[in-house]
Amino acid sequence: MDEEIVRTRLFKKTEDGFNQCLICAHRCKIKDGRVGVCKTIANRGGELYTINYGILVARNVDPIEKKPLFHFLPKSYSYSIASPGCNFRCLGCQNADISQAYRDEGFETYIEYFKGMKRVEPEEAVKSALSSGCKSISFTYTDPAVFFDYSMEVMGLAHEKGLKNIFVTNGFFTPESIGAVKGLLDAANIDIKFFNDNSYRRICGGRLEPVLESIRGFYENGVHLEVTTLLIDEYNNTPEEIRAIADFIASVSPEIPWHLSRFFPLYKMQDGSVTPEKGLLRAYDIGKEAGLKYIYIGNVRMEGYEDTVCPSCERLLIKRVGYDVLENNIKGEGECKFCGNKIYGVFK
Ligand code: SF4
Repeated sequence: MDEEIVRTRLFKKTEDGFNQCLICAHRCKIKDGRVGVCKTIANRGGELYTINYGILVARNVDPIEKKPLFHFLPKSYSYSIASPGCNFRCLGCQNADISQAYRDEGFETYIEYFKGMKRVEPEEAVKSALSSGCKSISFTYTDPAVFFDYSMEVMGLAHEKGLKNIFVTNGFFTPESIGAVKGLLDAANIDIKFFNDNSYRRICGGRLEPVLESIRGFYENGVHLEVTTLLIDEYNNTPEEIRAIADFIASVSPEIPWHLSRFFPLYKMQDGSVTPEKGLLRAYDIGKEAGLKYIYIGNVRMEGYEDTVCPSCERLLIKRVGYDVLENNIKGEGECKFCGNKIYGVFK
């Protein structure tokens, strides 16, 4: 076996003679010598392998607020890592140079560079997280689906050392992969990019329903969840679509924080305009009408919209500026200091 590739765990042999990857909802059936949609899982001699195992194209110490996670160990740092590739091909991707390297000819030269990189063993990643003072490891920037096997190894070791594990993801998982990380994954920020299957297919190469199923599945498994929606006037920011997203989140739990993010034209989505403040505020109001308790506006400085307010007594709990926490009035396991109301999240 090639030293740089490692067998993947989540696949099955189908009756019609294929190897089917079960990591994400594409459920690629891969013939010998071929690769899946993400191009990071390959069939070599009848077994599936992950070709980017331990290839970390990003290793950063980030404030956890940058994920964004606002209700999970606030003001802590998360060791943030990524392998190249993605199971989506979003036209507005902000990390296209690493996420689309295998799928976009414009980044082809990067692949040779990745091949020359030394594998970072899971033990080394955990050691680096600990020595940098982080409380968690985040699988982020690209999608954890394309370094799922690696994340499983790292997450097991991280738990042994008292670190938490986080996915920042498009949420395109399967019941099998959601089950595989049960007990290992502590928190996730999942995008709901649209509430329209056609938009998911056309703009990202994905589908809506598996994302909704992942959110339900992770929540049922006790994973702390926060949701992000990038608001793009030309693609999703209508009252009807925003209301549908808010209603869905509220149907899972009105406690789940919702991050509304301002769009800037990027990559192949140059036709979208920068989200105006009034568009962000309208979505915020729609979310409140749907009953969501915690809504935040990000990627822009709008005073007060990054703060956590107690849904019960309406006093300020966490004051944030950018990724910084200036004041925290949540005590103990997550109670409001003023009225004792339990706040959704992990605070200790
Ligand atoms: S991770 Fe998803 S896209 Fe990649 S091979 Fe597996 S099922 Fe296909």
